[in-house]
Amino acid sequence: MSECILEARDLTRCYRRPDGRMLTACQGVNLKLYKGKTLGIVGESGCGKSTLLRMLAQLEPPNEGTLLFKDKDITALRGEALRRHRGHIQMVFQDPSSAFFPRMKVWDALTEPLKNFKNLSVSERKKEAARLLRLVELPEEFLERYPHSMSGGQRQRLGIARALALQPEILLCDEATSALDVSTQDQLVKLLISLQRQEGLSILFVCHDLALVQSLSHQIMIMYLGVVVESLPSADLEELSVHPYTRSLLASAFSMDTDPAKDIAPLSGEVPSPIDRPKGCPFHTRCPECMEICREKAPKMTELSPGHWLACHRA
Ligand code: ADP
Ligand code: MG
Repeated sequence: MSECILEARDLTRCYRRPDGRMLTACQGVNLKLYKGKTLGIVGESGCGKSTLLRMLAQLEPPNEGTLLFKDKDITALRGEALRRHRGHIQMVFQDPSSAFFPRMKVWDALTEPLKNFKNLSVSERKKEAARLLRLVELPEEFLERYPHSMSGGQRQRLGIARALALQPEILLCDEATSALDVSTQDQLVKLLISLQRQEGLSILFVCHDLALVQSLSHQIMIMYLGVVVESLPSADLEELSVHPYTRSLLASAFSMDTDPAKDIAPLSGEVPSPIDRPKGCPFHTRCPECMEICREKAPKMTELSPGHWLACHRA
């Protein structure tokens, strides 16, 4: 196993709502990201994926829990130390257009993150921007163009190039391909895989599309209502996943070729509100295999086999 580069221990993030009630977006999340590997995070909208990424990128602090970068506790970094650290972890968002000022040319936009760290001349910045364009397989002519004149897929390549400007070790992609059509998504996934091989990048790829996440992840983590319910090697997903929620996601993702003889109940009902989280297992209100204990007690994460973690009383 390669080096663990980023680790989250028991990260919890709550928000106070205007009516004074507390909303728990993430609850006790644990994860490990390894050097040169991709961790995929899957879950329905509102399950806390973006909140988790914002905490990992230290755009907002956790209420509880610890964040480690190469075994060093970085939870309490502030000021100049935090600013220096930020270069190691960069984010790519769903909507790349909002990441660029409309009046900035590509070369300027791509090298903007460098301004805070290095004092470069315009020609040095253009040279660096050309290198970044090559990395994301865009032509050098784009240097003098404006991002808004490009297609969604090209703009997302710019988003990735810009995130790479500071030569980060970790790339956090939050639904980075979700706004694009399927074939463009596919090309971007291939680009991320090739960048990972070239640059040794560690990638955290968040998406609600299980099949897409599986196509580039080494490990897959499934979230439900702010908690991790299962985490396992991507290659074991179909054969070895156990959690009823994971199984139902699989059944809907691959419904075209699901064996009708297999015992997979379709998911019914609504996700409970993160304001009034149900007692016990967060999934029990929709679980087709709910038992008495699931209503009372939250299941603890246990390791079933190396790299396969599960929070379910059925284990
Ligand atoms: P996902 O990315 O999985 O769709 P989010 O992390 O965006 O989920 O949101 C998780 C929950 O936290 C949602 O119920 C959302 O409404 C709430 N939430 C997220 N950010 C904030 C915030 N800044 N203030 C209040 N509630 C928030
Ligand atoms: Mg989100």
